[in-house]
Amino acid sequence: MDFRAILEKLNKKLNVARSFVSKVMKKRHARTIAAASVIAILFASSATIVSASASGVVYIDGEAVCKVESQAEFDRALAILEKLHVENGVSDRTDKKITCSFTLSTVEKVSASECADILYKECMRDYVRAYCISMKGIEIGFCATYSEAEQVVEHFREHIIDSVLENDSVADFVELTTDFSIDSKICRSDRVKVPETLCRTVLNIDDHDKTEDGESSNRVTASGALDFLYVDKNFAFGMLKNEAEVELPKFDFSFNLGQLNSSIEFKTCVIETYSEIIPFETITVETDELYVGQSEIQVQGENGIADNEYEIAYIDGVEVSKTLISSNVISEPIACVKLVGTKNYPSTAPTGSFMWPVLDRFVITSGFGVNREGLDDAGTYHKAIDIAAARGTSLYAADGGVVTFASYSGTYGLIVKITHENGVETRYAHMDRIDVKVGDRVYKGQMIGTMGITGRVTGPHVHFEVRINGNPVNPRNYLPSDKPWEN
Ligand SMILES: [Zn+2]
Repeated sequence: MDFRAILEKLNKKLNVARSFVSKVMKKRHARTIAAASVIAILFASSATIVSASASGVVYIDGEAVCKVESQAEFDRALAILEKLHVENGVSDRTDKKITCSFTLSTVEKVSASECADILYKECMRDYVRAYCISMKGIEIGFCATYSEAEQVVEHFREHIIDSVLENDSVADFVELTTDFSIDSKICRSDRVKVPETLCRTVLNIDDHDKTEDGESSNRVTASGALDFLYVDKNFAFGMLKNEAEVELPKFDFSFNLGQLNSSIEFKTCVIETYSEIIPFETITVETDELYVGQSEIQVQGENGIADNEYEIAYIDGVEVSKTLISSNVISEPIACVKLVGTKNYPSTAPTGSFMWPVLDRFVITSGFGVNREGLDDAGTYHKAIDIAAARGTSLYAADGGVVTFASYSGTYGLIVKITHENGVETRYAHMDRIDVKVGDRVYKGQMIGTMGITGRVTGPHVHFEVRINGNPVNPRNYLPSDKPWEN
């Protein structure tokens, strides 16, 4: 059989196959490979009818590029093509029509993956890798280099911030809380713009402001009073509705501007200065001048004042943060100095010698055993010495011991009795106030109360008695010969 005969035979079979396919195609629906573009797939199916030498010829916009073995192989090629788009981050999908039909062709027969490579190369003919500026996934535009994209983003930021500041008389500055991102992507080469064009397109376009017909210009405002984008309705929204109906725009505005504007979030910041207190600190100083548990304030603390400058940030009028930026001290705080005693309490055991129960200057107004004027009968002699000073003068235990009485007692008035060792007792009568109670162990020199005029008295004094085994003795014999202020 010569070549021509073979060809004729094949053509006959092919016609049968075509009529079959047209019936099948009414039931089949076109497959899509991407969300953006609809791709019609025409494929002459059914290997049982078609001879082995005929294959699926793959076309791009009507131009045969290769052929594959079967429908399954074509499906596989489309799947691989889709994967290539995704893997390479192709931003826009081709609007080229990819079809497959059963016919004879001299194009090379290839595997599914080779077919996908050929298709991808064809799809990418007008595509380039560029830097995509986006916000929250919304593509705004493309630049050829990263630094150009950065330049544009910087300009966008400035524009947004200026717009906010223009509309907010209180804000001192503005901070974007959602930012633009720059990613390397593959896109149609005509989408790549120089920074100037991209900025002029997306941002405030003077020409649009000047438009007399209000309808043709649309100012999109973001949340609050932000005027971010001034765009032409046809570009901004017309394209979204129906790309085909709108004349190809000079600038690509196929992103959703409304969505973009609502994506822009920003904080307005205000600088405020407040006069605030600097609390004083308390410094503790140990001293053996005081007993353990005793304390004394040596220096009173005083709060300082500072003018503090804060950066206060607001989102939608609600304060979200307050940061101290600087502090100008008007007056330094004065630290409080607290003395804390470390001295151990003296032993309450008697020392065997007495000290004067009054340390302030005093006079002895009545001695021991001296008969008072007009009292000369036996048994009425004075069993103590009277030590006189001002009412309220502190009284101290003459030696260590245990308090056995601390109360009111007839002519004695308020009286404290302290028992020491070896049957020695001291008494302090006519007191104004008692600071100890029965059972207290007191040390020599411990304050026990104050001098008063309780009981039978003519003036403030302490009636100081010393008893040995119950017998009053002359206290002067047990007290230092010098008065406290004399040594
Ligand atoms: Zn007396």
